[in-house]
Amino acid sequence: MKLSNSYIGLPEEFYQQINPTPVENPSLLQFNDELAELLKISLEEQEKLDIFSGNKIPSDSIPIALNYSGHQFGNFVHELGDGRAVLLGEINNQNGNYDIQLKGSGLTKFSRQGDGRSALGPVIREYIVSEAMHYLDVPTSRSLAAVATGEYVARDNFEPGGILTRVAKSHLRVGTFEYFASRQQWQDVKLLADFAIQRHYPEIRETNNHYLELLKKVAENQSILISKWMGVGFVHGVMNTDNFSISGETIDYGPCAFLDEYHPGKVFSSIDQNGRYAFGNQPSISAWNLASLAGCLIAFIDKDSDKANELATEVLDNFSVETNQRILNLMCQKIGLDGSSKENQEILRRLLKIMMDNEADYTITFRSLSKIIENDTQKFLSQFKQKAEVNIWIQDWQNAIEKESKEKSLLKKELDTINPVFIPRNHLIQKAIDESYEGNYDLMKEMINVSKTPFDGELENSVYAEAPSKDQRITQTFCGT
Ligand code: AMP
Ligand code: MG
Repeated sequence: MKLSNSYIGLPEEFYQQINPTPVENPSLLQFNDELAELLKISLEEQEKLDIFSGNKIPSDSIPIALNYSGHQFGNFVHELGDGRAVLLGEINNQNGNYDIQLKGSGLTKFSRQGDGRSALGPVIREYIVSEAMHYLDVPTSRSLAAVATGEYVARDNFEPGGILTRVAKSHLRVGTFEYFASRQQWQDVKLLADFAIQRHYPEIRETNNHYLELLKKVAENQSILISKWMGVGFVHGVMNTDNFSISGETIDYGPCAFLDEYHPGKVFSSIDQNGRYAFGNQPSISAWNLASLAGCLIAFIDKDSDKANELATEVLDNFSVETNQRILNLMCQKIGLDGSSKENQEILRRLLKIMMDNEADYTITFRSLSKIIENDTQKFLSQFKQKAEVNIWIQDWQNAIEKESKEKSLLKKELDTINPVFIPRNHLIQKAIDESYEGNYDLMKEMINVSKTPFDGELENSVYAEAPSKDQRITQTFCGT
């Protein structure tokens, strides 16, 4: 495993050099062979266990914990940083640049009151969900390995410990910028911005306002990301600025979940009592986070502060407009219609309203639309109690579809490549975690397998496609730190 360590070129305050703390009796629960291939990693079984448990440091690794601040639920927290994670290093090859990070690997100087560890439950959740997101075509950090440490961590109860090896384009966050900006260390903000440009957006070097362009790029990638979250019904749960990546990937999976029944106000995280990060709030929260980044970069956007404000505000305004448009287009695409038409937008709005009123399952409702094209309305109708209203909607939708004059088989194919059959259902993730605590990893492994082909399969033939019954529904996922 050939690792480089470019972050170490930054000043010392950016990180702490710290080795993972060895664990007693680790076992490798899951290893991602496809991802290893992309990374061009080839390791013996024992090496995998040693390295991804933190018990052995690869010869060219210089492990570091990264420093950052962040707005948590809107409040600024100066001292955050990797309190339970270390970056082993980066892999650079023709497929891209990847950070290899251990999460749950022991104390660092950023641990505060924490123990530097992770329970196995959140490791399993992140592994399953991040890999599923990847195959659902949502930009995301990925999971290379899940290790059970053989040790216990104290949470509400004692729970088995785990370490996740995650792979991301980088771990630069809005919060990393905020750390230096809040201390008015502008030289460091600039170093960080240049590092981010070099790493993620090297094309910016050809432009004449690097820092405005950086803001624009982050805005664009976050806009794409959030729209994709909305399309698959993903609720991140803790969209704090320290969990908001500069690369535009989903990072820091915590109390995340996919919607079962549709409701824009849906919250899963037990710590999000006011619903700040509810499903339907995600676009506006991403604008909020982006405004925090703009605040860090503003001094470099133009010497004239009025002009700088004007330029940054324009980026933020465009972000909101474009993100809403992107979501509208994507959602219309999910029902086979062109999002630029006002009538089609109204058909979408009506569908979402009856879905909400009827607690219709987000995934099943969209997926079963393609069955209506083949005159099978049963599955779609099964999601609704108000049959009369929904039948009128079906009629109007079919009329709108007719107007698009698309060949039926093509339309079905398009719908089935945008509306998944499988999402990692929350109640099954919880079951997989519960069973893993009994030493049974079968469900975890099966869920990881099923998630690789989210668009292939039939709603009827698999327990993984079923919505939970009302009493199976998980209403809260815990931060699990
Ligand atoms: P997260 O919920 O993973 O986004 O973490 C928020 C902040 O709390 C980050 O600074 C983490 O490093 C820190 N943190 C979370 N859990 C722990 C833990 N068990 N030990 C130390 N620090 C932690
Ligand atoms: Mg975090």
